[in-house]
Amino acid sequence: MSYTPIWAQNKEKLNKTELIKLEKDGLDVIEDIYRYAKTGFESITPDDMDRFKWAGVYQQRPKDGCFMMRVRVPSGNLTSEQARTLASIAHDYGRDLIDITTRQAIQFHWLRIENLPDIFERLAAVGLSSFEACGDCPRTIVGNPLAGLDPYELIDTTPLVKQLSDTFLMNRDFSNLPRKYKISISSNIYNAGHAEINDLAFTPATKVIAGKEIIGFHVWVGGGLSSRPYLAQQLDVFVRPEEVVKVAVGVTTIFRDYGYREKRHHARLKFLVADWGAEKFLAKLKELVGELETRGEDKIKGWNAGYFTGIHKQRQEGLSYVGLSVPVGRMSAQELEELAHLADEYGNGSLRTCNSQNIIITGIPDERVEELLQEKVLERLTPYPKNFTAFAVSCTGNEFCNLAIVETKERMRQLAEYLDEHVELDEPIRMHMVGCPNSCGQRQIADIGFQGALVKTEDGMKDAFDIFLGGTLGPNAKFNEKLKGRVLGEQLHRVVLPLLAYYKEEKRNKESFFDF
Ligand code: SF4
Repeated sequence: MSYTPIWAQNKEKLNKTELIKLEKDGLDVIEDIYRYAKTGFESITPDDMDRFKWAGVYQQRPKDGCFMMRVRVPSGNLTSEQARTLASIAHDYGRDLIDITTRQAIQFHWLRIENLPDIFERLAAVGLSSFEACGDCPRTIVGNPLAGLDPYELIDTTPLVKQLSDTFLMNRDFSNLPRKYKISISSNIYNAGHAEINDLAFTPATKVIAGKEIIGFHVWVGGGLSSRPYLAQQLDVFVRPEEVVKVAVGVTTIFRDYGYREKRHHARLKFLVADWGAEKFLAKLKELVGELETRGEDKIKGWNAGYFTGIHKQRQEGLSYVGLSVPVGRMSAQELEELAHLADEYGNGSLRTCNSQNIIITGIPDERVEELLQEKVLERLTPYPKNFTAFAVSCTGNEFCNLAIVETKERMRQLAEYLDEHVELDEPIRMHMVGCPNSCGQRQIADIGFQGALVKTEDGMKDAFDIFLGGTLGPNAKFNEKLKGRVLGEQLHRVVLPLLAYYKEEKRNKESFFDF
């Protein structure tokens, strides 16, 4: 007798996507892509096109035969060899364009169906994959890009990131979840993994057990953005490093079996957690994984917003890392190729992508840092960026994204440049721009968030933005709040400029933009 999963026992309660997923697992499409690469774009069925997400591939806008692809970079940890492979793929198939996403992944554009098998194989040859970078499954594990080198982490999470990735990647027990599912793990005391906006997050904690201080993690569940954002709730639990995978499997099992599958927009884990509450959720988790220690001492001291720009000492004596600014996360294949070369020439052959859309070169002997700073590619990708460009984040927008309402990336870049020319402020103002409420650019956590919409004008429909102020994560976590009114894209600078001038004049000593 064939097994019917719990959630499939009442098909009338399933949305259309659920029925498509029951018919064929999303991961099965990977094999089909090899076939479609021979039979051509026109031969792809609509249902399979939807399943392409499990291969990390979406149709790009306009839907005329080109795809975008996301490549998983767990915790942002890349070798120079992997970076070179990514650069070569962008060069050969992706019109030289590379984007770093807010989940430390690498995104390509302009790919064609016939290119995909070769890309999959090139990625696999260097231990990378685009599989399950999208789709209703566990996505890239995000975390501290400086894991293993970080003076501000309690333990190196690199092995745990690998264990989590190995546990979930291509695991058919978890390839059909109700919706996308995001895991974060970091032992950095400045919340480098953006814990509160993930479905499941592990943050640094300690607990004295049998007279001995153990370093481990606190566990958060049910965070997520989009149009109904939720901050994750902390469970009353302390998890030892060796229990992380067990707990992650338990939480993911709860989501798989009890998560909502009736309406797509009400399917993320956050809705189940909001309905159940942390206590009921933890009771169910313990049923699955056994007893766990109660909460210990929280070690999160603040929030670095994923920024590591500049030159800083590593935990290892005599070594530094150089955090480079990548304006709105976009660079060329040639730039990434050059960074890979510099990582080998000056560093330990390692690059790290950040959820702030920037990149780090690690393992540089202190005495070679000055020499590295003279390299030409660091003129644009500089460790000393101008203030607004340094802290500007943007999603893909309508250049490539089918869900986008407005253009974002170039607009965010230009706005930041304009502010750099016209505003003198010696503190960071984090600006995030998104092209629709899905919020891939995480506008809710920005000091100033811009969310795209359209408005009717005498000259027809025009790009416009809702503006939100005052978002942050860490100990004072809260989402930003909407200002009244909507501003035309071409007028944004006219509103942001006086806003910043007012802040500069009126703020009291030591008051930050968030406090204001
Ligand atoms: Fe596309 Fe919207 Fe995500 Fe931007 S936020 S990349 S427009 S889905």
